[in-house]
Amino acid sequence: MSKALAKLARLAAERERDRMRDEERAALDRIAAEAADAGSSFTYPRGGRFKPSTVLGVLRRDGFKCKGCGEPGNLTVEGGSRKFEDLRTVCRSCAED
Ligand SMILES: [Zn+2]
Repeated sequence: MSKALAKLARLAAERERDRMRDEERAALDRIAAEAADAGSSFTYPRGGRFKPSTVLGVLRRDGFKCKGCGEPGNLTVEGGSRKFEDLRTVCRSCAED
């Protein structure tokens, strides 16, 4: 690859990373706002291995309620993988960790 092409590819990759960061930051804000609207609160899972946009999708799918007891308070998400289908919303009492 020529130097100019390599530079273009690098710039495109940087732009993509910036866009992703913006989207993920926005998703974090949405989680806090929508949890408050639902009368809930959300604690981010330890380790930060889930993307905010994925977590927001899981919370929306589960209606901002614990899948164990149905309560809306003090939520987090857990799951065996990072995949949307494998994650579920749980409250701190029902969380496995
Ligand atoms: Zn629960």
